[in-house]
Amino acid sequence: MSSTQDLVYPQILFQYNNGFLVSKIMFTACELGVFDLLLESEGSLSSDAIAERLGTSVSGMERLLDACVGLKLLGVEMKSEGAFYRNTELSKLYLTKSSPKSQYHNLMYYSKTVYLCWHYLTDAVRDGKNQYERAFGVSSKDLFGALYRSEEEMITFMYGLNAIWSICGRDVIAAFDLSSFTVIYDLGGCAGGLAQECISLYPNSTVTIYDLPKVVQVTKERFVPPEERRITFHEGDFFKDPIPEADLYILARILHDWADDKCMQLLTKIHKACKPGGGVLLVETLLNEDKTGPLEAHLFSLMMLVQTEGKERTPAEYSKLLTAAGFREIQVKKTGKLYDAILGRK
Ligand code: SAM
Repeated sequence: MSSTQDLVYPQILFQYNNGFLVSKIMFTACELGVFDLLLESEGSLSSDAIAERLGTSVSGMERLLDACVGLKLLGVEMKSEGAFYRNTELSKLYLTKSSPKSQYHNLMYYSKTVYLCWHYLTDAVRDGKNQYERAFGVSSKDLFGALYRSEEEMITFMYGLNAIWSICGRDVIAAFDLSSFTVIYDLGGCAGGLAQECISLYPNSTVTIYDLPKVVQVTKERFVPPEERRITFHEGDFFKDPIPEADLYILARILHDWADDKCMQLLTKIHKACKPGGGVLLVETLLNEDKTGPLEAHLFSLMMLVQTEGKERTPAEYSKLLTAAGFREIQVKKTGKLYDAILGRK
């Protein structure tokens, strides 16, 4: 055997094998409040102090903290009294609840929902469909009925999905010059993270968040302040109810939820409603045309398998759907971040 086979292959293998252990360490430290406590304490703390303040065992906490050090989520200093732990820049920025770029809610959605669904990945591949019945005992006939199987689950989903826009929202909204579009509908706009980015970058725009009634209610109550006059709301079902006329429709992480026939139904309806010269902006994670990656897109596509009716697609696949619905001048922009943008014009 060559030295590459001896050295590198086992490393890759064990790294993949341990992937979910790593996720769980990060989720657990977040859930227990380790990073928030260290932020509050404005300094380093011993494992005894952390365990006491968070109400855990010392033996468990010590191991969790050491593993976080190994993952560079915490730093450690050895003092005469023992080990003292502190947040790293990464955990301070992304894992504390109060940071403007916090991914805490996204991680909690992964920990409490995505993780359980992925337990049934083998079944999902066998069946070719999502696994709500096995994972949660609920029918998936109505996809968002299953996703929003309780108020709590819906709110966790909304916080979780919204978190990413504090990292990549600006990149997708700035991928094209959208300043000529003043009346914008964010279809399936959820908690409004992208709508906020949009009005902050384009001072002449107004954005209407169009979503299911119970989602709109929560967005109004918890996410968009009432004094924000440039964001308005529309309660409706974009498959069944009318879609009002606008200059631009944003579809962020919408088409990846649905099979091609549903995507066509929605895009055709949007094309009819769209003002001439207007457009549609798709925001999705794009697969390479040759399907070689990026890995995140492959992972998301499997996530769509276990949790939705859709999949991730290549730019050519999205262009085909847009063209068939009547859109033209299709442009694709890879942002270099997690989400990319495609603009089609009417
Ligand atoms: N665009 C948001 C984002 O990227 O953060 C949310 C994406 S989430 C995957 C899909 C969104 O579509 C949810 O907010 C959901 O409530 C909404 N949705 C699903 N079915 C819908 C329907 N039939 N009519 C209107 N909105 C719908």
